[in-house]
Amino acid sequence: MIRSLSPRVEAVFWFLLTATGYYLLASLSLYATKGADNIAAVWPPSGYFLALLLLMPDRVRYAAFAAMALASVGANISGGVSPLTATAYTVANAVEATIALLLIRRFEGAEMSFMAPRAVGRFCVATLSASAASAVVATALTANGPDFFLSWMTTVALGMLIVTPPIVMLARIVGSNALHNVSTAMKIEAVGLLTMAAFVTGASFAQSEFPVTFLPCVAVIVASYRLGPFGAAAGMLIVAAIASLLTAQGQGPIAAMNYSQKVEVLFLQFYLVTMLFIALPLAALLVVQRRLAKRLEQSNRWLLQAEAAALVGHWRVDLKAWTIQWSDQTYRVHGLEPGVPVDVDYSVAQYLPEDRAKVQKVLTEAVRTGEPFVYQGRIKRADGGIRHVRSHGSIEKGRRGKAVAIFGTVQDVTETVENARILESARSAAERVANTDMLTGLPNRRHTLAILDQVLCEARQQGTPLAVAIFDIDHFKQINDSHGHATGDDVIRRVGQRAKASLREEDLVGRFGGEEFVCILRGRSALSAELVAERVRKAVQTDSESGDGPGATISIGLAIFADEETPQDLLQRADKALYMAKRGGRNRLQMAA
Ligand code: GH3
Ligand code: MG
Ligand code: MG
Repeated sequence: MIRSLSPRVEAVFWFLLTATGYYLLASLSLYATKGADNIAAVWPPSGYFLALLLLMPDRVRYAAFAAMALASVGANISGGVSPLTATAYTVANAVEATIALLLIRRFEGAEMSFMAPRAVGRFCVATLSASAASAVVATALTANGPDFFLSWMTTVALGMLIVTPPIVMLARIVGSNALHNVSTAMKIEAVGLLTMAAFVTGASFAQSEFPVTFLPCVAVIVASYRLGPFGAAAGMLIVAAIASLLTAQGQGPIAAMNYSQKVEVLFLQFYLVTMLFIALPLAALLVVQRRLAKRLEQSNRWLLQAEAAALVGHWRVDLKAWTIQWSDQTYRVHGLEPGVPVDVDYSVAQYLPEDRAKVQKVLTEAVRTGEPFVYQGRIKRADGGIRHVRSHGSIEKGRRGKAVAIFGTVQDVTETVENARILESARSAAERVANTDMLTGLPNRRHTLAILDQVLCEARQQGTPLAVAIFDIDHFKQINDSHGHATGDDVIRRVGQRAKASLREEDLVGRFGGEEFVCILRGRSALSAELVAERVRKAVQTDSESGDGPGATISIGLAIFADEETPQDLLQRADKALYMAKRGGRNRLQMAA
């Protein structure tokens, strides 16, 4: 509202507001509390003026100072002070307002809030420095002594301390949109509580029979607790106004103490300041705490939403109390309604017996080392379903580095595990197909060569013997020609099977191509390898003699692995031996050179 005024109207507005308020407050203070030294015991105009200076735009400050000067001189003269002294007082009051304003601006910037205890502390330093400077000026200009100095300083300091914060805070609350957001119930409560504060203060200070001076404190604290800084500020203003006026009238428990007026007023001032410094930080702390509680509640809600969306729950084991907490999503992972009471043993018992020991071991180890952990296991849900879950977690340590709790997440990974299993069986099926010869079911050429590479490497490293036999069906073309290709295939298959049946588990026979096979004989010395190869040859021969198909024999070339030999060299030697076996009449075994 004020911002939309034209500059001149704005200056007039602040001039009138300053002059009227200052004059009224000054006259009232002089009338009600003027002491023997002719200065008022409380000087709220200083606090009022400082509050306005903090609230008004910088550009109208000159008008406010002019208004304050006029009101101050006027009020003092009408209060019986000589024009010269009134002018001196006014200069001193202008000095304190200027210094307080400069210091507060320096400490707090443009927005002095009174919302944080630290801000209130800085405000005290500013007002005390300002009133000390003001007292020096006033004492010097009026040629007074130390008594006057002290009296002036306390008067001005307390005037600012008591009056400025409530006015600034109330103006900020009314000026901002805060009031629009307040519910009717809250407004009714505010009016009720403030009326109560007024009533309690009135009742306490209108009588002198009972020493209930501090009863209004309770009303202000209740108002601060329920209404926040607004309650603190408004409550304080009400108590300050009623208590000051009644005490100045000689009523109430303070006046009844029958000390000198100066001491009574001092008592009243300290009474009000004490209340101010209880109510303001309390209200400020409450605001911070409520904001924190709200934020905490909100982030907790977001966490639960995130957990539900990501299907990740969390849990925490308190190692000392031996209790466990589950988040809502953890309950859902276990197929339970959130909130059902659970304990540590129950949580561990959820894992299948085969996985339980592994999980316990991982957790025990994590507690011992303090290192983060991860494990996967199967749980049996409440509905009997088996689910795979994965947990990542860490150890919470106490002040002395001792483990105090285990914190972990839990995620249902059943689908991932299922998919991985399907993928793995598809992969191994594909690998089997890629490595297997379709006709005989034996390892194909590629796979046989790969195995030979690997076995040869081991033999070289470990110095163990190794032999390779290549065999080929004799006169196979004739078999094909006379019995047909299909029968030829049968013969190839049967020869492969016979060869395989004549070998040990650790030996290997693969189809190398056509009707040619390779045997890898691991750990076989030359003699042993020869015996085995000969056994294979005989087995094929015997089989073909007893079987109903066409008879088939094989010729074998056998090579014993020599140091530093490559697989190709070894195969080549075996192949040469095979060629020689063919040349030597077939159905025979030939050792390679
Ligand atoms: P040798 O005693 O010298 O080995 O004479 P061979 O007739 O067996 O001659 P070779 O080993 O060179 O003959 C290979 C023949 O095997 C040629 C080809 O027609 C036949 N063959 C190769 N692969 C297959 C197969 O998968 N099935 C059938 N039925 N025949 C095949
Ligand atoms: Mg052949
Ligand atoms: Mg051949």
